[in-house]
Amino acid sequence: MKNPSSIFDSIRVKPDKDRRLKNDGPACQWPGCKEKATNKAPKGPNSSGYWQYCLKHARDYNQNYNFFAGMADDAVLAYQKDALTGHRPTWKMGTGKKTRAKPGLGALGGEGDPFGLFGDGARAEQKAKVETRVIRNAERKAFEALSLEVSATPAQVSARYKDLVKRHHPDANGGDRSTEDRLIEIIQAYKYLKSVGMG
Ligand SMILES: [Zn+2]
Repeated sequence: MKNPSSIFDSIRVKPDKDRRLKNDGPACQWPGCKEKATNKAPKGPNSSGYWQYCLKHARDYNQNYNFFAGMADDAVLAYQKDALTGHRPTWKMGTGKKTRAKPGLGALGGEGDPFGLFGDGARAEQKAKVETRVIRNAERKAFEALSLEVSATPAQVSARYKDLVKRHHPDANGGDRSTEDRLIEIIQAYKYLKSVGMG
């Protein structure tokens, strides 16, 4: 067996060498990384600055460059910090204008979330919000067609429907078919409200 002290000496030498290397020049700016920065990466079209990265993180950054382009610096940093903890979402879609600047990022579906950053839950939530808005618009139009407030009860909707059909029916207008379009609108509106339990 070798003299133990010589083994310890050889172990001790290595970290010293590494530390000297790392102190030689700027450090990688990737959060948590202590490697020497050997590569420059442009921050993006809205910034003339550069990130200083080690080779590994310059590669990581370049791979995701299109994703980062147009993001504010702090958003990029937030993403990188997030990368260290397994991409738990730290911000949601629609909360920052910068993240929506790039076409596709603000859109729904897979394309809007190329890195799975927001998770299925957030995406489903966003989709549900849009669907809710579409339904609300349809409901509002249907109520308008019946000249009712959106707060009208199903009983009021029914009563108004019967009244409007009577008034716009060609039979009630001496066979005049000029009110037919309006009648069709009324019927469609009522059918819609009935189908969603509001008529
Ligand atoms: Zn690095």
